[in-house]
Amino acid sequence: MPSKKSPRPANNELNPYTRFFNAQKSLPPDKDGQKQGVCNRESVYVLSNKARGKRRSGRENNQPTWRRRGGGGGNEDTIMVVTQDNTQQPKDKPLLTASQLDSICYDIIKEPPMQFHVNGTDIAPSIRGLRLSVCVEHTRFQLVAKVTRNMGFQHVPEHRLWNIQWSDSTPHHDLLRNMKRFQQINHFPGMVEICRKDLLSRNLNRMLKMFPGDYRIFPKTWLMPTDAYDVAIYASKHKRTFILKPYSAGQGRGIWITTDLRTVGKREKLICQTYIERPLLIDGYKFDLRVYTLVTSVDPLRIFVYNEGLARFATQKYVPPTIGNSHNVFMHLTNYCLNRRNSQYMVGNGPEAGSKRKLSAFNKWLLDHNYDVSEFWASVDDAIIKTLISAWPTLKHNYNVCFPKHDKIQASFQLLGFDILVDWKLKPYILEVNHTPSLSADESVDMEVKRPLIRDTLNMLSTALVDKEQIIRDDRTEHRARLLRNIYNKKAAAQMPGYSSPIREAGGHEVRQACSIGALTQQIAWEESHLGNYRRIMPPRDSAKVNYYCKFYEQNKQPMFADTRASRRREELNHQAMQKHQRERQQDLMQQQQAQNRIGKQVRWPGDQVQAAQVSPVILQSRRRREEAEAHAKKHRALIAREIQRQKEQLLAPTCAKERLGIWQSVRREKRRQCSPKRSSSITKAHRRKQQRNLSQRARQQRMLELEAQRDAKFLEEHAKKQRLEGGRITGQSAIPGSVGKITEKSRSSLTKQPRTRGKHVLQKKIHRESSNHSQMTKCKVELTPATKAEASANWTAGSISEVETSQLLDWRKERGNRLKETGLRELIFSKMYENGHLTKNDIKCFPDLLYQILNNEEASSR
Ligand code: ADP
Repeated sequence: MPSKKSPRPANNELNPYTRFFNAQKSLPPDKDGQKQGVCNRESVYVLSNKARGKRRSGRENNQPTWRRRGGGGGNEDTIMVVTQDNTQQPKDKPLLTASQLDSICYDIIKEPPMQFHVNGTDIAPSIRGLRLSVCVEHTRFQLVAKVTRNMGFQHVPEHRLWNIQWSDSTPHHDLLRNMKRFQQINHFPGMVEICRKDLLSRNLNRMLKMFPGDYRIFPKTWLMPTDAYDVAIYASKHKRTFILKPYSAGQGRGIWITTDLRTVGKREKLICQTYIERPLLIDGYKFDLRVYTLVTSVDPLRIFVYNEGLARFATQKYVPPTIGNSHNVFMHLTNYCLNRRNSQYMVGNGPEAGSKRKLSAFNKWLLDHNYDVSEFWASVDDAIIKTLISAWPTLKHNYNVCFPKHDKIQASFQLLGFDILVDWKLKPYILEVNHTPSLSADESVDMEVKRPLIRDTLNMLSTALVDKEQIIRDDRTEHRARLLRNIYNKKAAAQMPGYSSPIREAGGHEVRQACSIGALTQQIAWEESHLGNYRRIMPPRDSAKVNYYCKFYEQNKQPMFADTRASRRREELNHQAMQKHQRERQQDLMQQQQAQNRIGKQVRWPGDQVQAAQVSPVILQSRRRREEAEAHAKKHRALIAREIQRQKEQLLAPTCAKERLGIWQSVRREKRRQCSPKRSSSITKAHRRKQQRNLSQRARQQRMLELEAQRDAKFLEEHAKKQRLEGGRITGQSAIPGSVGKITEKSRSSLTKQPRTRGKHVLQKKIHRESSNHSQMTKCKVELTPATKAEASANWTAGSISEVETSQLLDWRKERGNRLKETGLRELIFSKMYENGHLTKNDIKCFPDLLYQILNNEEASSR
């Protein structure tokens, strides 16, 4: 992202983009009331304006006024430009001639004046847009931000309506689909087809197979491990050195050179290439070329190559690879990232020195050494075109899918970096295509090459040909109309005042055609007039070459896999399988016919009684098959339903043990309901297991009740003892242990015989409550012998139950509850369930002790 503090250009600096406006619109009408063109050609006039950084209001305030002065003579119009701030034109010298205007005018028709004829009319590019913005948030190259700022682009964040986005990585599909019709991005979807080493070699190999004479533009390449066998055969026949590269690494990472392919791992994903052992050397150093290529359109394919580029040199003198030196990356690899780490790296000092030189210096060297420079570059252009054509079907398809609405300008452009190695015969080889070539400016030579490169690239874009605001307005109107159409109907929306569908304007089709022919012609006119240091290589200027490249576009129609060994084998096997199948069918039919003859005219299928004899065996067989298939499908469906039910139950089972128990019980209930009289063996087993479970559960419940009763008895005993100690009116004999088990009917009746005082009545109530509580609490029956019973009834009188006693009772109840919990009732149940196979270890992991115990037991039993 560009720094906010970066210096802005001075106001009087020329700026061909942000400050241009259509002079035609601003010009005052002449005497006849007609607006006339300036200099009879469409031009964009640039005017320095103080408020250029501001938004719309600023621009409007500083809108310059134009005044035409008559009598300029000839073609020369004399125009006076007056700005509000008067910075550009001092008041004492307000007159400008058209030729003077040229100094602040950005002419779009420069050399050579282009003439385009579409349906008999001349076409020249027209400009409508006023202000261009660029989003450089997603590029790490500061130079892009710098150059765009200097060119007058407004920097905006991604969420704003930028005109151009410059990003380092291929943007997400969503971004591409949501792009507005005036927006452009620096990536074509699908360019990865040539930008990843494996895909590039796959595409080039495919093309080589189809056009063996034409596609020798890259070293022989195999994809490991797929082509391991082929390369092994090649290696056995030819004594060659191979270079191995990872599929998608860059900057020389993971590359090594070898003559022995047995060192390559069997499953390693690598590119195996024949090593170019005799490269062209300059001063004894190996080098490769970085050729910058701009693609402005894929349908039709338009490719431009930048005349300037870089030659990157290795930092140690080249010696053909031997076992001793093949590991020396500074000798064999020419990557800048690698070589700059070498102490012998030379920072460019003049055009013909340094480890990084300009292509112009390389061309000079070629000339000096009597090489044919133009022929060399023609072969480079040819290799670039062929490489791009190999991905053309994908590029075209992806573009049309992603940008169906871009009818005015191209939605994408891409600056590619081709790495080209030249051999001693001056034959170029494509090594790699970079989708985001480095635009960092580490050295002065970088600056000299890359700064104009970025500028010329942006100039080439026909972004200015669209009127952003108009498109936004059109899209809004269209959107509103679509909404209305949904609410009312199509007719009502079409009759809306002021509505003119841009779709209809574009040619009357509901679906917009990507870039109409008119828009394309405008784009071509623009590009041809803004080439800068670019040269067009596609479409080629030579018509003979146009025809030559045409055949490569037909690649989709070629039977690509028709002649491979695998496809031949597949075809053979298919043929054999089909023959076998036919033979079997014939045999089946014969057997059936024989069987029918033997049985006579026996009716085998319901509904066939009448014509059973006439039904051919083929039909009978097909019917049987159908029925079998139906039965099978039914069975299958039932199985699936059962499985779904089972999984549903499993999924529904919550982690809480208590609820799990509930689920388990519901499952039991469900199973019980499902159990039919005709039980399968598995169901009977389950039933038996269930019964066992029930039994053990009942026994457990019984045991618990007993336990509870014992505790109650103990409590009562203690209670009685306490009362005795506190001076309850129990006589000595009544303190027989076990005699105070339960308040009997007799004792109660004796209580009721007491005189009815108010206090006593309350007491009686209390006792009654207590006794009923006790009787509810304890279901055990403590049997008393008749003698003790009599004694107890004779001697026992109820003492008052104090507050302390009541709280004790409550405490006791609480304690009892806790104890019950402590006994691990749930653990008990779960361990039983685990034993019976209803739960897994995973289910009972919420009881770590239990799990631990189970594991211990299992270990012990296994031992
Ligand atoms: P990277 O993406 O890692 O830069 P390249 O394919 O560009 O990988 O290869 C890195 C360097 O290795 C090249 O700059 C070139 O000098 C050398 N190289 C690559 N392939 C070959 C080859 N087939 N013959 C000779 N040198 C090669």
